[in-house]
Amino acid sequence: MEPIWAPWRIEYIRMEKPAGCILCEKPGEDNDVANHILYRAKKNFIMLNSYPYNPGHLLVVPYRHVDSLERLTSEELHEHIEIVSRCVEVLREAFNPAGFNVGMNLGRVAGAGIDDHIHSHIVPRWQGDNNFMPVVADIRVVPQALEDTYHQLKGRF
Ligand SMILES: [Zn+2]
Repeated sequence: MEPIWAPWRIEYIRMEKPAGCILCEKPGEDNDVANHILYRAKKNFIMLNSYPYNPGHLLVVPYRHVDSLERLTSEELHEHIEIVSRCVEVLREAFNPAGFNVGMNLGRVAGAGIDDHIHSHIVPRWQGDNNFMPVVADIRVVPQALEDTYHQLKGRF
């Protein structure tokens, strides 16, 4: 896989990480719009990645704070993969990407930014998307892009 050039992620890489778990805290707050939570299912929720590799980069997250796949119940697992599949479907309808990267990074060494609360990434891909957001030299553009993406996807799940 060709890495995506996503220079705005440097902000995330350099930032002081909060002490708590944001994947527990965000759904615990009653502020889904500000937290970019798109959909709440019974055992899992969908949110935008605030430091996306591409526009429409979604996360599917179990509410329960677990650090590995095998610690999920079969009900949680089943719903998780169903929602991942639904994300692919919704992104296809909304943005017509040419492909997707779908997956999980288990453990810091495997690239997990948050390694104690598992989550799946759904990243839509376009031909030549290394140049997809040339505007990113100005990382202030990204928050606006996130708002636009949120409103394009909200209500579709
Ligand atoms: Zn957590």
